[in-house]
Amino acid sequence: MTDLRLAGIGMTSARTRDRLVQRLREQGIANLSVLDRIRNVPRHIFVDEALGSRAYEDTALPIGFGQTISQPYIVARMTEALLEGGPLDNVLEVGTGCGYQTAVLAPLVTHLYTIERIEPLLSRARERLKELGIRNVRFRHGDGSLGWKAHAPFDGILVAAAPLTVPETLVRQLKVGGRLIVPLGPEGEQELVRLTRREQRVERESLGSVAFVPLLGGVV
Ligand code: SAH
Repeated sequence: MTDLRLAGIGMTSARTRDRLVQRLREQGIANLSVLDRIRNVPRHIFVDEALGSRAYEDTALPIGFGQTISQPYIVARMTEALLEGGPLDNVLEVGTGCGYQTAVLAPLVTHLYTIERIEPLLSRARERLKELGIRNVRFRHGDGSLGWKAHAPFDGILVAAAPLTVPETLVRQLKVGGRLIVPLGPEGEQELVRLTRREQRVERESLGSVAFVPLLGGVV
């Protein structure tokens, strides 16, 4: 990939990206490292070339296989919610998709493990992160609702697809003090929540209503 394609021109230029960052600030995203990642990750390389000119609009866009790249505001909000409460060493992401959220998050944590159930999406995500020079990510083709036991427990888990109820298997793979950011509920009535594992209980906070694809079992 050429440097020019990564840097972007016209509708994918630095100015266009700055406008997106400004918009997210106005919507309440305050974490400067998160805003910096939104400014620096070239979202246009994660979508089809034909959609490149829309890459810095604050909307979800199709990435094939019936899936979408998450809306930048949601990526920023989830990343910010995950980071609140201290540095993160070991983090699990469920639902790699095109890898955009992965690219935003990776440099803000020490180790990132990411699982996707649709193999072609995972391979493309892996290639893009390599092109961006991001090296602290391990990829896995599988059912992320089972977590990744070999690398557990995690300081944080971020789930980019919505289960109907709290995914207990993932809660069990959190360290005490670890945070799980997950959209919960059926399509049309989902709520983004942060679950924090404490010694004897799990704390739950609501982060507002959201629209995600469902978390599915099995692999494709
Ligand atoms: N943050 C991603 C969002 C992708 S959409 C991005 O910006 O591209 C959510 C993804 O979760 C889809 O790619 C879908 O295939 C995946 N997914 C759904 N259920 C899953 C599961 N059980 N395990 C792993 N991935 C899953």
